[in-house]
Amino acid sequence: MPQIIISPDSCKGCELCVHACPQQILGMGKKINSKGYFYAEMVEQMRCIGCRLCCITCPDMAIEMKVNGAMYHYFSY
Ligand code: SF4
Ligand code: SF4
Repeated sequence: MPQIIISPDSCKGCELCVHACPQQILGMGKKINSKGYFYAEMVEQMRCIGCRLCCITCPDMAIEMKVNGAMYHYFSY
């Protein structure tokens, strides 16, 4: 099963990933990160279909995906 990992301190709270997720399982949390932003959180991991739209959409590369133990970093150039 794909696992989504969001790095709180890399997130600027733009909500693009929240709107990009076709399963609507990402949401904005109530906690503030070290930059002073509310950051995105996974709400219902079990329903993730591994489409990676959230990873691709995030302008700050704050989202990574782990599938069967392998970590995938997107656009981390
Ligand atoms: S991989 Fe797809 S379904 Fe899973 S959280 Fe990201 S956008 Fe949503
Ligand atoms: S797209 Fe990236 S920066 Fe924007 S809310 Fe989602 S994780 Fe945070």
